[in-house]
Amino acid sequence: MAVRFDVITLFPELFAPFQTVGVTRRAFETKAVDVRLWPLRDFAEGVYRRVDDRPFGGGPGMVMLVEPLVRCLSAIRSDQDAAAAPRLPVVLFSPAGKPLTQQRVQQLAEGPGAVLVCGRYEGIDQRFIDAHVDEEISLGDYVLSGGELPALTLIDAVTRLQPGVLHDAASHEQDSFSDGLLDCPHYSRPEVLDWPADGNERGVDAAVPPVLMSGHHAHIARWRREQQLRITALRRPELIELARARGELSKHDEHFLSQLTL
Ligand code: SAM
Repeated sequence: MAVRFDVITLFPELFAPFQTVGVTRRAFETKAVDVRLWPLRDFAEGVYRRVDDRPFGGGPGMVMLVEPLVRCLSAIRSDQDAAAAPRLPVVLFSPAGKPLTQQRVQQLAEGPGAVLVCGRYEGIDQRFIDAHVDEEISLGDYVLSGGELPALTLIDAVTRLQPGVLHDAASHEQDSFSDGLLDCPHYSRPEVLDWPADGNERGVDAAVPPVLMSGHHAHIARWRREQQLRITALRRPELIELARARGELSKHDEHFLSQLTL
């Protein structure tokens, strides 16, 4: 069964461009990932279809109301039941959530999916969170205007792990974080660049690293591993420590790291 995402959003139109481009388009088209948009305003009542109101206690901004969210979630539950789908956990995007990692993306890619709640304004009435939200996910330590970009980010990251979505299935296996390290550098044609006169003020080598042209697979694999170790040690040393703690560094890796001058 496809991974299913039910997305609660005040701005379904923000998802439109992603329905026509690249990996996320394939998610919508092939149903490799089954994405269903639930416009929250459809579940608001009254002439003005209110979905937000002022915060009790005063202060700036507006708070998303509980009732439309509950009605929307209830409609999603009925739809899931009708499709004999499992009752999916409810994820809220929030700067106060746990930072999203590739490990969590991988778990979600192998699971049944989730209901994704996109917040807006100051946030959501806490009573909805306490009653219905199972997990809060953050994209990072900064504040966006809404949860739609986080939802699309999560859907994109999960989609590219589904069989048949990427043209080359092996390509995500060498991505950053798949083996706990950052990715190595990549090069393509031409083998030697004819730099324009003012196009290389940093003096970057015009040639591709020779090992990549050697045809020697073991040497290439070793060079790539060493580049991963070098870049990770330089930029994200904590990931090296984690890989070490998991016993994923070979003797050769440790020797290479001990010779590195950062
Ligand atoms: N008052 C909230 C706070 O300071 O934590 C920020 C609200 S923000 C303007 C509106 C919505 O954007 C949030 O409810 C959340 O759904 C989403 N959002 C903003 N930044 C985010 C982040 N870093 N990660 C995930 N979601 C985020």
